[in-house]
Amino acid sequence: MEGPWYKPFRIKVVEPIRLIPRAERERKLKEAGYNLFNLRSEDIYIDLLTDSGTGAMSQAQWAAMMEGDEAYAGSHSFASFLEAVREITGFPHVLPTHQGRAAEHVLFSCALEPGKYVLSNTFFDTTRANVIARGCMPLDLPIPEALDPENDLPFKGNMDLKALERTIAEKGPGKIAMIILTVTNNTMAGQPVSLGNVRAVSKIARAHGIPLFIDACRHAENSYFVREREPGYADKSPLEISRELFSLADGCTMSAKKDGLGNIGGFLAMRDQELFERCKERLILVEGFPTYGGLAGRDLAALAVGLKEALELDYLRDRVGQVRWLAERLREESIPIYWPPGGHAVYVDAGRLFPHIPLDEFPGQALACALYLEGGIRTCEVGAAMLGKDAPFQFVRLAIPRRVYTREHLEEVVETLVRIAERAGEIRGMRLVAGEGPLRHFTARFEPLGA
Ligand SMILES: *Cc1c(COP(=O)(O)O)cnc(C)c1O
Repeated sequence: MEGPWYKPFRIKVVEPIRLIPRAERERKLKEAGYNLFNLRSEDIYIDLLTDSGTGAMSQAQWAAMMEGDEAYAGSHSFASFLEAVREITGFPHVLPTHQGRAAEHVLFSCALEPGKYVLSNTFFDTTRANVIARGCMPLDLPIPEALDPENDLPFKGNMDLKALERTIAEKGPGKIAMIILTVTNNTMAGQPVSLGNVRAVSKIARAHGIPLFIDACRHAENSYFVREREPGYADKSPLEISRELFSLADGCTMSAKKDGLGNIGGFLAMRDQELFERCKERLILVEGFPTYGGLAGRDLAALAVGLKEALELDYLRDRVGQVRWLAERLREESIPIYWPPGGHAVYVDAGRLFPHIPLDEFPGQALACALYLEGGIRTCEVGAAMLGKDAPFQFVRLAIPRRVYTREHLEEVVETLVRIAERAGEIRGMRLVAGEGPLRHFTARFEPLGA
C-alpha cells in the first residue's frame, strides 16, 4: 500500500525559475494593468494561472513526438490518436482540433440553431461565449448546494434535475438546442459530477429528443472522484468509468490541454454520422484537414499517449491528492476556500478573506495581485472581474499544472497566503479602467484604489 507521500514519477529535466525582487514585481504589475494575463512568465515564480496546456509530458510522450508523422493526410499519428479517443469515449466519429474552444465553435456552428437555449450544469467561459456567439442563450442549472462553499456533498458539480425538467417544460423542448455537462465542473470550483446524475440527465434529454454533449476536459479526474465517492465504482478502473460516462451522451468536446496531458490540442467526437459530416466540412474551413485539424502530427502522437496516461490510477491519485493536500493545508491555516476541493485547483474565497472590499471593487482581483506582489505567484480571478456582477463567488483559482510542482512549491503558496491573510484589512480594492464583454478578463486593465 502506498503511503501519503507516494510519488509515481521522478524528475528528469528541470526548468529554472526565480523570484524577481519586490520592487520589480511592483513595476511589472503596474505595467501589466494589474491583469496577470499581461505578465511575462519569466517574471513569475510559481505559475498557477491555469492547468491548461501547462503540464509536464512524460518520457513516453516525448518519445512518441519524435515519431510524429507530419503527412498532411492519413498520418499514422492520427491513427494512434483516433484509436485512443475511440477506446476512451466509444464515439465512432472524431475530429481533432487545435484546442477545446475550436471543438466548441465547430460543433455549435453545425448543431445549434440561433435563438434557442443551451442548458448546462455550469458553462465554462469559452463555451458560454461560443453559445452566445452562435446567437443562443446559455443557462446554468447547478444544484443549489453548489453555491454553499462549506457544504461537504460529494458531487457538487451535478446538474439540478428539477430545474432541468422545469426549464424544458417552461421553454418547450423544441426551444432547447442542447444540454452540455461540464465534467468536472470547472466554473463551479472544479466539482465532480456523479454518474448517477449523468444517467438521469441523459434519460431526460433522450425523452425530449435533446442532444447531450459532455464538456470532457477533466473526465479522468471526474472518473477518479466517481471511483472514490460513488457507491458501486470502487473496483472499476478510471477508464471503465469514463467509458460509462461517454456511453450516456451523444458526443463530447474536449480540451486535450487538460486530461490529454498535452501542451496543445483538443477534439470533437460524436455518434451522429450526419452531424459529423457537417462538422467535418466546417473543420476543414476553420481548422484543417480532418486527419490533423490544426495540430502537428507530433502533437497528435503525444496526445495518443497522454490521453491514456491521464487515466492511470497512480497518476490520478497523485494529481487529485496534491490538490487535496494544498486545500487541507490552507484550511488548517484558516484561509477561506471552497470545500471540498475539486480535481485541478483550489479556489480561495476572496469575498470571505476581504469582507471589507465590495464586489464592484473586485476582491478576487485584489487578492490575485497581492499574491503576485507578495510571492511572485500568478493565479486567476474567477469572480466579478471574469464573470461580471452575477458571479456566484469571488474566487481566486490556484490551478495546479499536472506533474510540474512539488509540495515545497505549494507550501510556499500556503505561506504567502498566510502572510496576506495576516494583514488582510490593509488590502485595497481595484477599479476596472478598460475591458468589456464575456471574455473581458483576458484583456481588462485595473488600477488599485486609494493607493
Ligand atoms: C479549458 C476548457 C475549455 C476550453 O478549452 P481550450 O483548450 O482552452 O480552448 C472548455 N471547457 C472547460 C471546462 C475547460 O476547462
